[in-house]
Amino acid sequence: MDTLLKNLTLIDGTGRKPVADAVIAIRGGKISYAGPASTWRNEADGESITLDLNGAYVLPGLIDAHVHLSGSGEADSQFYAPTGQMALKILSNAQKNLAAGITTVRDLGGWSELEFDVRRSIQRGDFTGPRMCLAGRFISITEAGADYYVGMYRVADGVDEVRKAVREQVKHGADVIKMGVTGAVLVESGAPGVTHFNSDEIQALVEEAKKFGKPVAMHAHGIDGIRKAVEAGVTTLEHGTYLYRDPGVIRLMAQRGVFLVPTLKVGWDIILAEKSSIPGWIMQKNVDSQGDAAKSLKTAYDAGVRIAMGSDVGTPLNYHGENALEVYWMEQAGLSKMEALVAATNNAAKALGWDSWLGTLEAGKVADLLVHEKNPLEDLRSLADKESLRLVIKDGEVAASHAGSVLPKEALAKQVLTIR
Ligand SMILES: [Zn+2]
Repeated sequence: MDTLLKNLTLIDGTGRKPVADAVIAIRGGKISYAGPASTWRNEADGESITLDLNGAYVLPGLIDAHVHLSGSGEADSQFYAPTGQMALKILSNAQKNLAAGITTVRDLGGWSELEFDVRRSIQRGDFTGPRMCLAGRFISITEAGADYYVGMYRVADGVDEVRKAVREQVKHGADVIKMGVTGAVLVESGAPGVTHFNSDEIQALVEEAKKFGKPVAMHAHGIDGIRKAVEAGVTTLEHGTYLYRDPGVIRLMAQRGVFLVPTLKVGWDIILAEKSSIPGWIMQKNVDSQGDAAKSLKTAYDAGVRIAMGSDVGTPLNYHGENALEVYWMEQAGLSKMEALVAATNNAAKALGWDSWLGTLEAGKVADLLVHEKNPLEDLRSLADKESLRLVIKDGEVAASHAGSVLPKEALAKQVLTIR
């Protein structure tokens, strides 16, 4: 049975101009048509259900290329929970993403491999949840972060250990390999400017990951670490705080198509919080680096570097379900509204390597889409506004509907769409 959505404004995620009075046809969980009503021909052979969306805005389900499902925004960034509770925490956070229209998440540092079990449960249909792209553990040198985020880190010193650490993540089912090439902001003794891994270790990691067909997501703040990561062939650069300091590296990123995932929201949430219980060291480190991070995004963007949206939700005061505000912060740093939206749709799908079937509303892609009452291109903050988000559809099925749903009662009653 086909589902037809009509009387809508289509924002397809490619960066093309919105199409007023558009139609989207869904068959077997995939989009069979998305475009102007004037050129649509109904080729459905059997019964179909038609939903009149009354001029609502329809865009692709958002893709967040950098989350931590094991964190819930704890002010001190202490994610720890006993095993059973942690599994439930990961599931609950995953579901908050889906309900907020983040239909795909890429987790770049899970907890004791529990996120793989959660994903299996979602895939089996035991629970609803977003599509999950997983890195497993964050591969790091011996450092204090490994004691702080005890279930997240995989310490690996030396080339042989680095290779083994990659193989472990692949064994567990990782889609991407995450390495921390520099110190971290959210580790008290971490020095973001300091390079942790040596060049031979970085190259070994990238080589080992590529052998298994896995892209590499590199946590990097300082420019020396960024340079070594880009030269070694990483796919996405996470944070990139001091990237602006080397125009040569920026040019190389643009040439090679390396994505920058800037993660600005976490810093703003911490800096702008009133009366929070944020420890002083977390506040100071973010105050010190936030301007650099925004400047690096703008500089890289102007030089043609591809940008993908990553909110780093799970980190202090950066809550699951508010991810889409990262799109707004990217606009504030200098992207156009449409380009910031593309960073959370088509470009994020490319950063994951999943763009052949995900990320835009075009025929052949999976039917992950959002129905918004407000035009997100007027104010990107409406992407995170539950009053605006009416419907979340994943794989052609309704995954979440919010107050004042546009779904006709008859459709719900007939269960023509599977409500899960
Ligand atoms: Zn992160």
